[in-house]
Amino acid sequence: MVRVVVLSGGVGGSRLVEGLAAIGGKQLTVLVNTADDTDYYGLHVSPDLDTNLYVLAGIVNPQRGWGVMDERWTVEEQLKRLGEHPWFHVGDRDLATHLIRTAALHAGHFLSEVTADLCRRLGVESRLIPMTDDPVQTFLLCEGEWLPFQEYFVHRQAAPLVRAVAYRGSEHARPVEAALRALEAADLIVFAPSNPYTSLLPILAVSGYREVIRNKLVFAVSPLIGGQAVKGSLAAMLGSLAGEVSLRALFDLYGDIVDGWLVDPVDMEEARASFEGVVACEPLLLTTHADRVRVAQRLLQLANPLKEREDRG
Ligand code: GDP
Ligand code: CA
Repeated sequence: MVRVVVLSGGVGGSRLVEGLAAIGGKQLTVLVNTADDTDYYGLHVSPDLDTNLYVLAGIVNPQRGWGVMDERWTVEEQLKRLGEHPWFHVGDRDLATHLIRTAALHAGHFLSEVTADLCRRLGVESRLIPMTDDPVQTFLLCEGEWLPFQEYFVHRQAAPLVRAVAYRGSEHARPVEAALRALEAADLIVFAPSNPYTSLLPILAVSGYREVIRNKLVFAVSPLIGGQAVKGSLAAMLGSLAGEVSLRALFDLYGDIVDGWLVDPVDMEEARASFEGVVACEPLLLTTHADRVRVAQRLLQLANPLKEREDRG
């Protein structure tokens, strides 16, 4: 397989990551959003890194798409018994990851080092890299108040209308060296079907990545099918932030760094009318493992002739 770097958020993005890893895990680098990292009783939780870690390790909870399979919740139960009201859910097995990460960070290691170590411990072949070792946090302006991402997404269940988004800290955040090198060496860069506002634009806001990505072959997979987000609040966010829920509004978010879009067959006509580059279609509901592998294969097929053309000229 060709060398692929995929930019991913959490649950939506990791569905495609699973397919790409199944085809060529050793050649795959997953560059992940950390702008929704959060504090849980003093522990550093990186939800999107963990979702991808568990997917790559083959231990993700298949029903929820996040957390560890065969999970227990005794810590959360005891917290409640002690009068706490945790709205962010951490299972017992998941907790072990946050304990190891937090201890390593306190000992002075970088998040990227801890992540590589967790990958080794779980036998993951692919490289999993956080977008930065520096703190960046997504905030959403809802009803006149700036909310941290997890407060909006988990506590308020993504119900409030979002009027603006900010990636606090991104002005000072540095890219991870290993990620820059992987991007430079990549034959293909894939934008997973993640929510652009809360997952991929925070990555692109870290200085350095955009410049490298701009000169590479980039394929994006649409998180919208028939004008609806498969899951979550992307459609509502496009409506309130971009003024319309359309493929054009979605495509505009990444601008001209994307060379090709993979959309669902129901969206083919609208996509062709909205994008000047390559547009291809493939059923994009990534429900089963077979769906995820099929879409990953399609991306690699699409990239091949384009890559050859680029190499020649
Ligand atoms: P989060 O960090 O867990 O919120 O996950 P992401 O940002 O990576 O993914 C959220 C996006 O994934 C949503 O906008 C969904 O529309 C999209 N999504 C989820 N499942 C699927 C799927 O099966 N197919 C496609 N095309 N998009 C999906
Ligand atoms: Ca996320």
